[in-house]
Amino acid sequence: MQTQLADFIKDTPEGREADEILRNCVHCGFCTATCPTYQLLGDELDGPRGRIYLIKTMLEGQEVSARTQLHLDRCLSCRACETLCPSGVRYGRLADIGRGIIEEKVGRPWRQRLQRLALRKLLAYPRRFGPLLAVARRMRPLLPAAWRGKIPIRAPAAAWPSRPQARKMLILEGCVQPVMAPSINAAAANVLDRLGIGLIRPEGGGCCGALSYHLAAHEEGKDFMRRNIDAWWPYIEAGAEAIVITASGCGVMVKEYGQILKHDLVYAEKAERVSALAKDIGEVVASGDWEKLRPPSTRRIAFQSPCTLQHGQRLNGLVEGLLRSLGFELIPVANPHLCCGSAGTYSILQPKLSQELLAAKLKALEAGEPDLIATANIGCLAHLQSQAKVLVRHWVELLIS
Ligand code: SF4
Ligand code: SF4
Repeated sequence: MQTQLADFIKDTPEGREADEILRNCVHCGFCTATCPTYQLLGDELDGPRGRIYLIKTMLEGQEVSARTQLHLDRCLSCRACETLCPSGVRYGRLADIGRGIIEEKVGRPWRQRLQRLALRKLLAYPRRFGPLLAVARRMRPLLPAAWRGKIPIRAPAAAWPSRPQARKMLILEGCVQPVMAPSINAAAANVLDRLGIGLIRPEGGGCCGALSYHLAAHEEGKDFMRRNIDAWWPYIEAGAEAIVITASGCGVMVKEYGQILKHDLVYAEKAERVSALAKDIGEVVASGDWEKLRPPSTRRIAFQSPCTLQHGQRLNGLVEGLLRSLGFELIPVANPHLCCGSAGTYSILQPKLSQELLAAKLKALEAGEPDLIATANIGCLAHLQSQAKVLVRHWVELLIS
């Protein structure tokens, strides 16, 4: 695609990156049919090719409006379009750049600004979100049924293993997950302990930055990234082998630290190293002696592969293969490439579309009457559990229970 970027952007690092991505798009439209929002809304501008066109015209200096912003807001950032694109267009990166610029150009009504600010300032901070969730859990029985499902029940967390291991890795603590489901990282620590790996929880780390970054608060997101790098760096210098991430949404973000901070004079090199060390828990388990992990009883499960695992990290089939090798029966699920509608804060900001996607995903997951649903991302887990008829767990928890 030919481009002629406007003066305000063409000589900036983001402008050059966006230009390169735009030029790769040949406008073939192969990606359109796979896009969940195009499937629901039937509007070219609510599909990847249309959104690419909208971003291109904005970067070329044409007028943009709240309507343009709405088409970008409706995008789930699921990146199913990237998986299908024959030209390797990095749509997710282009969408992040486009959202940052349109936020400055168009702004938002105060209600939207307040809602987005509240999400960023609450969810990314466990010390703020934790007490709020505790109050909501206490009030759960008094709430209407529709609200009750949105407040997950806290599963008990296993004790963190304490025996010393020669092999050491770091774990991303995260923000929402340790408050909603501390059992997940505890399960990962116990599984890796059985594989001879000790997991270190560095002080000072936290949110991966995705929450702010995908809400177009780019500098705030980068600050979270730098904070994690500072927390991890002494352990990396001391020889930590990897950074283990149990939420696939955070995993895709940490794997992109190097790309996002590549123009940061202080952090660029460190960010690149951090991204190279980032591993989804599935990658770590699959490369170890996983035969030791065979659980005493296995179940029929439906696996929901999060978009961030299959499209973002391109690890489609890895966890499914591992679970099958460990003896689990995986029930076939229709349209596994489609998003469940969770997509970070999307379920709160675009509730109607999100609920339609959730209903379709649960229909597909529950069609084979599984004992439970397994997933690999806390956002998907909470979203699916809000309406599922069966229990939803992170797959790594199944290896210790
Ligand atoms: S993003 Fe890829 S698949 Fe979609 S229109 Fe562009 S080149 Fe074609
Ligand atoms: S990221 Fe997902 S929702 Fe957004 S354009 Fe691509 S396929 Fe559609």
